[in-house]
Amino acid sequence: MKILVINAGSSSLKYQVFDMDHETVLCKGGCERIGIPDSFMTHKHADGRKKEYKQDMKDHGDAIRLVFQALTDPEIGVVKHMDEIGAVGHRVLHGGEKFTASTIVNEAVKEGIREVIPLGPLHNPANLKGIEACEQAMPGVPQVAVFDTAFHQTMPRRAYMYALPYEYYTKYMVRRYGFHGSSHRYVSAEAARLCGREGDPEFKVVTCHLGNGSSFAAVKGGKCVDTSMGITPLEGIPMGTRSGSIDPAILEYVMDKTGMDIHEMTNVLNKKSGMLGLSGVSSDFRDLEKGMEEGDDRCAMARGVFVYQGRKLIASYAAAMGGVDCVVFTAGVGENDGDVRQRMVEGLEFMGISIDPERNNVRGKVAELSPEGARVKVLMIPTNEELVIARDTLALVTASQK
Ligand code: AMP
Repeated sequence: MKILVINAGSSSLKYQVFDMDHETVLCKGGCERIGIPDSFMTHKHADGRKKEYKQDMKDHGDAIRLVFQALTDPEIGVVKHMDEIGAVGHRVLHGGEKFTASTIVNEAVKEGIREVIPLGPLHNPANLKGIEACEQAMPGVPQVAVFDTAFHQTMPRRAYMYALPYEYYTKYMVRRYGFHGSSHRYVSAEAARLCGREGDPEFKVVTCHLGNGSSFAAVKGGKCVDTSMGITPLEGIPMGTRSGSIDPAILEYVMDKTGMDIHEMTNVLNKKSGMLGLSGVSSDFRDLEKGMEEGDDRCAMARGVFVYQGRKLIASYAAAMGGVDCVVFTAGVGENDGDVRQRMVEGLEFMGISIDPERNNVRGKVAELSPEGARVKVLMIPTNEELVIARDTLALVTASQK
């Protein structure tokens, strides 16, 4: 079966088509500037050819129609007719407490996604638009929603409750949800397979998803028991432009000093903090590394804060699980930045965690980084959230047709 995977953002829409008979990617691409002047789409065929479509997209419906045009383009497309696409899998940011697993979309599911819009105000409406645009453009083709939060729903109450008045939880859904769930699920399952511990309820992994957004998860026996992002993706380790966890009293203090209102303050925490705020140079770890090499002390400081906070999370998650068998690095920074990986585990030798510098000289492919015979395996596993979405979509659609 051919499956279309859609990841809709507020003004963008990324897509991939999988041939699930071989789990290969046939093409991928993305629409940018949806609803903004000068929108365009880039389409890449698996054979390396590319085509850019400069076309006005006033909404996600226009974007989906342009995606269909590219998929059936005689020059660079991958199907003759859209009816060759058997199902569509959608990445949905927030599933609240309602969605503990991926699900076939129906009216009740759409209503459920709508109910938690207050928790994902930018993404959930875009995800719904993506689903509705596909429903209109390909009626009858099954749509599946795969939630970023679902994998973390196994966390125990002690891990997900904030110590706030209890009615904030019961009335306003305030609790830790966690994100990057498909990524943590994929790399923790791969780690269990690579370590020969599939199905072992005692296998304990700390997964470090380090990208532009970064999150950690403690996964025991294949189930998430804790994660670093919270009710929104702002909590946890500092990120590209997000502050991560800070003393909440800073908000009132800085707002008093600057005259910012709460929306401006939140915007600073999301868009102007993290690596960008600390370095004053960039949110991109490549730029920070270059800056550091050229003697820029603030670039060095930003990377230092990042690796230190990450190291504390790895150790605290080992404590949360009563031990650790494996640490996994993944995503843009985790897969490419050996210096971050090496320094993040520095000082954790007492827990059996270390990285062999020679083995660490690797990029973008599965690799064992820990020294031969180490008590804790440190692995680098490239993440593949789109494949998780395609696999879930295939499994649900196949089961529903039986
Ligand atoms: P992601 O959010 O997983 O796509 O990761 C994107 C981030 O990965 C970028 O903002 C960079 O900071 C980082 N990154 C990508 N490639 C490299 C690289 N070769 N070296 C260091 N960092 C990288």
